[in-house]
Amino acid sequence: MLDRRTFLRTAAGVSSAGLSFAARRRQNFVLIYADDLGYGDLGCYGHPTIRTPNLDRMAAEGAKFTQWYSASPVCTPSRAALLTGRYPVRSGLTRVLFPQSTGGLPAGETTLAEVLKGAGYQTAAIGKWHLGHLPQYLPTRHGFDSYYGIPYSNDMHPYEGPGSPGNAKHPPLPLMRDESVIETEPDQAMLTPRYTEEAVRKIRAFRGRPFFLYYAHTFPHVPLYASPRFRGTSPRGVYGDVVEEIDWSVGEVLKALAETGQEKNTLVIFTSDNGPWLARRVHAGSAGLLREGKMTTWEGGVRVPFIARQPGVVAPRRTSAQAGSMLDLLPTFAAMAGAAPPRAALDGEDLTRELRAEAPLRERTLFYWNAEELCAVRQGPWKLHRVSNTAEWKSGTSKHDPPLLFHLEHDPSEKYDVAAENPELARHLLELMAAHEAKIERGEPQR
Ligand code: MG
Repeated sequence: MLDRRTFLRTAAGVSSAGLSFAARRRQNFVLIYADDLGYGDLGCYGHPTIRTPNLDRMAAEGAKFTQWYSASPVCTPSRAALLTGRYPVRSGLTRVLFPQSTGGLPAGETTLAEVLKGAGYQTAAIGKWHLGHLPQYLPTRHGFDSYYGIPYSNDMHPYEGPGSPGNAKHPPLPLMRDESVIETEPDQAMLTPRYTEEAVRKIRAFRGRPFFLYYAHTFPHVPLYASPRFRGTSPRGVYGDVVEEIDWSVGEVLKALAETGQEKNTLVIFTSDNGPWLARRVHAGSAGLLREGKMTTWEGGVRVPFIARQPGVVAPRRTSAQAGSMLDLLPTFAAMAGAAPPRAALDGEDLTRELRAEAPLRERTLFYWNAEELCAVRQGPWKLHRVSNTAEWKSGTSKHDPPLLFHLEHDPSEKYDVAAENPELARHLLELMAAHEAKIERGEPQR
C-alpha cells in the first residue's frame, strides 16, 4: 500500500493520453498578492469604511484565516519565501532589492511555478515581481511562461507621488512584458485595470489545461493611484479608492473563472506580502488591532489577511484561527496538484486538510526573521521576542527589554509582557530559536 505522498508522486509521473494525473484532475491555482495591505484593511477583517464586497463574498463562500503570516515584514524576502516555501535567509534574499541592485532569486531555488510546471501546468505572473529585474532573475527564468508587470516597487522612480517622495537616483519605472521593457513611467492610475484585463485574458486562454496564475498587485504600496472610475469614491480617501479597486479586480477574476466553467476546480487565494507602511501616515493602511506594521516583527508587520475559496473543496463560511504561513503554500499546492515537491529543505507544511476543515487546530511553530536576524518565535499561542528592529528598542527608549513574552490569543495587540511570570517557557522558546538557527546553518528543513 502506497502512502498518499508516494501515491501522488507516482500518479503525477504516470501519463495517460499525454495528460498527467494532475492535468486530468485540472486543479488550478490563482494567487492574488496585495502589497503592503494591512490586517485591518478589508471589510471582512473589520475596516469601518473601506468597502470590499467581492473579498467579503469570497470569504463568505470560502475560509478566512485570522492568524496567517508572511515570512518577512518587507517585499522582496516575503516574495522569496512565498515562491520557494523557504525562509528567505535560505535563498539569501533577506533585504529589499532596488533598481540599482544586481542580485535576485538564485537559479538554484525551485519556485512554486517550477513545481507546478513540472506537473504539466501553464503558468503566468502578473504585476510586481521584486525578485530581481535583471534578465536572469525575471519570472520567465523561474518557471513562469509569461510575465506582465513592474519588476519592483512603484515608488522606485524619480518622481513624487501621493504618499511617496520619489528618488532622483532611480531610473524611470519600467513596465515589462516577458523580458522586454514595453513602456517607461506607465500611468500608474491605469495599472490595476491593465493587470486585471491581462488576468482575465489569461484565465480565458488557460481553459482546458491546468494553470497557475500569480497575480501580485502593485498597490496599495505608495504612491497611491486609482483609475478615474474609483478615484475620489471611497469614504476612506485615496487609500480606500485603491483597495476598493483591488476588490473590484478580485471580482473580475472570480467572474472570469465562473464564465469559463473553472470555478469549482480553481483554488483562489487572496493575501498580502506584509503589513502597512505606517511611516506613510494617512497613505498607509491599518493593521487593525495588531501592533506596529511593515519592517517590524510585531504582529502588524507580518500577520496579514488570508482568504481561500474553492467551492466544494474549501469549507465555506468559516473563520479559521489555524496559524498558517506563506511557507505552506508551496507544499499545499504541490499536494493538491499531485506534483513532486522540490528536494530543497522546506519550512512549510501541507495545509490541505485545514482548507477542507478536516483537521482540528494544530499547534504551529513559526519564526519571525527580519533581514538576517531571527527576532521572534511563535509556538501555539505564545510569542517570544528575542530582539526587535523597532525604533524604541534601537534607540534604547523602550520601557521593557527583551526577551518579551506575549500570549497572542489573549493579547493579540502584544501589550502585556508576561516573560517575568513564565521564565521556563521563555527559556524553552529561546532554545527553539537557537535550534532553528542551527537547522538553517546546516541546511536542514524546519518541518
Ligand atoms: Mg510590501
